[in-house]
Amino acid sequence: MGNKLSLLVCGGAGYIGSHMTRMIAEAGHEVTVFDNLSTGHAEALKWGKFVKGDLRNPADIEKLFSENCFDAVFHFSGLIVVSESVQKPFEYYDNNVTGTLNLLQGMRKHGVGKFVFSSTAAVYGDPVMDIITEDHPLKPLNPYGRTKLQVEEILQDYAVAYGLDSVCFRYFNAAGAHPDSLIGEAHSPETHLIPNILLSCIEEGRKLKIFGNNYPTPDGTCVRDYIHILDLCDAHLKAISFMNQNKGAHSFNLGNGKGFSILDVIKASSEVIGREIGFDYEPSRAGDSPRLVADSSMAYAKLNWTPKYTELREIIETAYRWHKNPAF
Ligand code: UDP
Repeated sequence: MGNKLSLLVCGGAGYIGSHMTRMIAEAGHEVTVFDNLSTGHAEALKWGKFVKGDLRNPADIEKLFSENCFDAVFHFSGLIVVSESVQKPFEYYDNNVTGTLNLLQGMRKHGVGKFVFSSTAAVYGDPVMDIITEDHPLKPLNPYGRTKLQVEEILQDYAVAYGLDSVCFRYFNAAGAHPDSLIGEAHSPETHLIPNILLSCIEEGRKLKIFGNNYPTPDGTCVRDYIHILDLCDAHLKAISFMNQNKGAHSFNLGNGKGFSILDVIKASSEVIGREIGFDYEPSRAGDSPRLVADSSMAYAKLNWTPKYTELREIIETAYRWHKNPAF
């Protein structure tokens, strides 16, 4: 490792943020988590220092930056449920956009010039390419995707006006857990496919629902690109060295580049668990794209990053280990 850095993780009590915090600590850097614990878990705060606070409250941010010195900020705080964003746009714009503006204001005031942001493949909307590159049109289908795109645009403006260097990662489907199961994915309610498949096998009376089987895909169910949580976090850490060499605002896809239908994911899960998995077909969810598969060659080339978990089965195995016996 090079220099020891002091890094801030906003949203470090959540699924991706807690894995990131751990990776930063294990790489030998200092890490501080800032989180309001609204959807995150206190039990996930096993590494670094914790500051409780809310990005919607500028006084919390001022206190955070006046009492600590950071070399860079990772921002994972955000509301992420697409259907909820349609029902509660104020909460989504307030948390995801105003909260981010407040955070950026704290960084400007205290001279922190490097920012890594969780964006999403939802910024693309209906895909017009089989494999999506970063120059695909940006037409999000819901408020959630719009909040992420708005922040990406803000970061472009901040690079020009204030010299803020940033990397936005457009995640495809983050999945899996740390292989030692100390931390993992715990959303309430759980809306994601892999946890829902596994929980339908673990929890008595819980039936798996497949949302839609009339999509224009080979088996009629939606196709997604699943990327392991540790591969995702590894790219974030590499973004720090990238920003040392590259000024400005950059956006990269993060995916494995392989598409799996819901039925493919159920089949792979059934192989991991060693039993058949039952399901019911339900109407499709509003705003779901039929197919989202990433071209991540820009991240490969610019960040010197490649995913290590290239097999869907391996990703599901780590998730299953966690869900069988979750620590929280
Ligand atoms: N899905 C499903 N049943 C579930 C959860 C998800 O059929 O219990 C479908 C969902 O409609 C989508 C795909 O699985 O087509 C992946 O959904 P997820 O919420 O995991 O991620 P998204 O791609 O929406 O970010």
